[in-house]
Amino acid sequence: MSILSEQSAPSQGPHSSGRAGSHQSTPLGPTALPVQPAADCTASSPTAQTTALTPSKSISQPDILSSPASEPLSASLSASKQQQLQQLCQNAALYNSELTVATAVITKAAVEIIGADRASLWFYDTDDCFKLSNRYDATAQAHSSDLKIAIAEHTPYIETLSDRDCLLIEDTSQMQTVIRCLIQANLLLAGAFLEVPIRVRAQLVGFLWCERKSAYQWSALEQASAVSIALLSATTFDSQQQRSLTHTLSHHRRQLKRETIEREQAEQAWQESQRFIQGIIDASTNILYVDSFADGSNFYINRWIQNVLGYTPGDLQKLGPHYLEQLVHADDKALMAAERRKLSYINDGEVVENEYRFRHRRGNWRWLLCRETVFQRDVNGQPTQIFGTATDITKRKHAEVALKEFNEELERLARMDGLTQVANRRSFDEHLEKEWENVKNGGSALSLILCDIDYFKSFNDTYGHQAGDVCLKKVAKALEKAVKRNTDRVARYGGEEFAIILPNTNLAGLKKVAIDIQTAVKQLGILHSQSEVSDYVTLSLGLSLITSTKDARPDMLIAAADQGLYQAKYEGRDRFCLSFIEGTIEG
Ligand code: GH3
Ligand code: MG
Ligand code: MG
Repeated sequence: MSILSEQSAPSQGPHSSGRAGSHQSTPLGPTALPVQPAADCTASSPTAQTTALTPSKSISQPDILSSPASEPLSASLSASKQQQLQQLCQNAALYNSELTVATAVITKAAVEIIGADRASLWFYDTDDCFKLSNRYDATAQAHSSDLKIAIAEHTPYIETLSDRDCLLIEDTSQMQTVIRCLIQANLLLAGAFLEVPIRVRAQLVGFLWCERKSAYQWSALEQASAVSIALLSATTFDSQQQRSLTHTLSHHRRQLKRETIEREQAEQAWQESQRFIQGIIDASTNILYVDSFADGSNFYINRWIQNVLGYTPGDLQKLGPHYLEQLVHADDKALMAAERRKLSYINDGEVVENEYRFRHRRGNWRWLLCRETVFQRDVNGQPTQIFGTATDITKRKHAEVALKEFNEELERLARMDGLTQVANRRSFDEHLEKEWENVKNGGSALSLILCDIDYFKSFNDTYGHQAGDVCLKKVAKALEKAVKRNTDRVARYGGEEFAIILPNTNLAGLKKVAIDIQTAVKQLGILHSQSEVSDYVTLSLGLSLITSTKDARPDMLIAAADQGLYQAKYEGRDRFCLSFIEGTIEG
């Protein structure tokens, strides 16, 4: 809807050719104005469509500024006004200053050149409104700005702007609708109104208002001046826009350059940190690896693996799924699988660790301490990748084995009699205690033999102490040979006395062992010239046996055997005697 359609007698000037296309082809000639405006910046020239609404009359508007036909009018433009217009065109503030400063210069000049009471310049703002860039009020001699015309509130007026190049109203009090709305909104004075839309590259960007407080018949010169000023405003606005665009562009360019530099620096820093991390990984004397949790294939492993197992990372990755299980010792496979399963229910930060044997490429075995944790999880929290470190502990393991063997040897030596190489007294005590416990826990009869070499003092005296030692060693060996079971234990009880513990041995068995011992020692055939019972070394034996530990103690078994030994000596030596612990012997 346009104003034209609402009004009864719109009239157009003789040079009004109508639409935007026509005024774009109407340059403001440099001969008339000292500036060459941008070809795309247009305001209505007097040759463009001019709308004079009643009660104004149609005004003939020749091109006073550039066309030869305008010569008479141009000549009639007062010299001072033309000078003012020229000065305005040359005012550097229009091209170098902020838009608000430039428009203040223009509106003041517009009031003076056109003889208006008020001149205002409005420009389209991003918030769907036209913003008052500047208004100069001649009466108040003051500038104002920052008023707004919301497009939504004055749509009918805004729509009509694109339909014309100029609007002349001689008496706004006669006007209806859209103009009246502006007056009611205190945006316009009630009086006479001259409006020129401002366009840049055919786009409406604003408008110039010249107002008078009372009805007035605008002259063609005033209209032409208004058009020139609007054109100047378009040029100013456009150059401001270009400047701001250039400024924004160079700002963006600078920012882009800064961002590029920052990105390059970040990239460089990232690469350096990557190199640093890789350096640490390469320098690590631990194996670092990342495996798939699902199939146990290797995702990453550092080069240290080659020093430990002889394989390159590539070799291991080629082994495919469950590559570690292909290298681990058969006896450690089940443990490794169980430990991996634990990873599915541990929390982040928790570690599962164990020691496994892995086969070196050359075939020997290396011990590795593997410490594994969850490296990555899926959306359900299930592990997808495992991070592990493996430390070569082969040397430690070998040292541990050696130490264990050494300790076992020490232990063995600590329980062995140095001379005869049979268990010593300490070992005898421990063993008896243990077998006693067995009987207590339901085991069967426990037997004990104490043996003593007959007339050993005189043997030493006759053959010497060293010969006595040799004799002790031979007797000990004969005793060990005489007892058949692994559980039987021969010990040197002290001096030339030996004790033999016989678990699970009944009376008949006990007697048989005693006889075997005597026979074995005799068979040694160790000459003993000073013995009163034989030409050879003989033993006296004291035997005791227990089938129940009820009301009895181990020392009672020893005491009973000792009693038997005493009895054997008493009865003449080279024999055995049984002694019983009262109430403990069955059969
Ligand atoms: P009996 O028939 O009554 O047992 O008389 P015996 O002479 O054997 O008994 P006695 O207790 O009088 O003497 C035991 C001897 O055993 C005294 C000691 O010198 C000797 N003897 C003890 N331990 C050792 C040893 O380690 N080596 C040697 N060569 N002799 C030992
Ligand atoms: Mg003795
Ligand atoms: Mg003796």
